[in-house]
Amino acid sequence: MVIIKGDSEIEAMRASGHVAGIIRDAVADKVTAGITTKELADYAGELIVQHGARSAFLGYRGFPGRICVSVNNEVVHGIPGGYRIKTGDIVSLDIGVALDGFIGDTATTVMVEVTDLEVVRLVDCTKQALFEGIESACVDGRLSDISHAIESFAVKSGFNVVRNFVGHGIGRSLHEDPQVPNFGRPGRGMKLRHGMTLAIEPMVNFGCGDVEVQSDGWTVLTKDRKLSAHFEHTILIADGGVEILTL
Ligand code: MG
Repeated sequence: MVIIKGDSEIEAMRASGHVAGIIRDAVADKVTAGITTKELADYAGELIVQHGARSAFLGYRGFPGRICVSVNNEVVHGIPGGYRIKTGDIVSLDIGVALDGFIGDTATTVMVEVTDLEVVRLVDCTKQALFEGIESACVDGRLSDISHAIESFAVKSGFNVVRNFVGHGIGRSLHEDPQVPNFGRPGRGMKLRHGMTLAIEPMVNFGCGDVEVQSDGWTVLTKDRKLSAHFEHTILIADGGVEILTL
């Protein structure tokens, strides 16, 4: 069941989204060769507390980290640990915070002195695919218009989207209905309505879109071990136009 947010809930979603965006950008600025993924998560944890929020990921279905840090061929759900970031890495940060009972969810992929232009193109394409999806959303539009815009942009760019993990409704819970796939034909699925809040999150792979879960039970890897990038915003579908809550 899709939970439509009223005015006060929308205000609360704006607030949590704002904090999630601030923390995403601050942690992204910390990503540099030599830092461990655990140190990034510790820093995120401090900022989350400073903002009076809490991690929406820690403990979620048993997830052991306060943020997800997924490096190179890791797609999503990487557990922060001892890995030390190296020059040339791409580092996906997924930040979910709960503030006053509402959740903001956002992700970015940071390039660490990347010189391979094809890798730059993958990351740029994934970011643009997110915005293509967001721009295709409007009141009375259809859910799969978002999915189609994302997939077609990624495929046109020569890459592939991940199909096993999808965007989602979001609110008091991290994952609400509906699911928002990053693929599909346009003009299908439910009509978008004022007050829907969605986390749109393309995961785009350099090679094939297939993925597998590592033995830690969480980290999602590309099956062909080629690179993957991930960008995410929480958005509000509104009569006045789509609002990005995690800018
Ligand atoms: Mg999400």
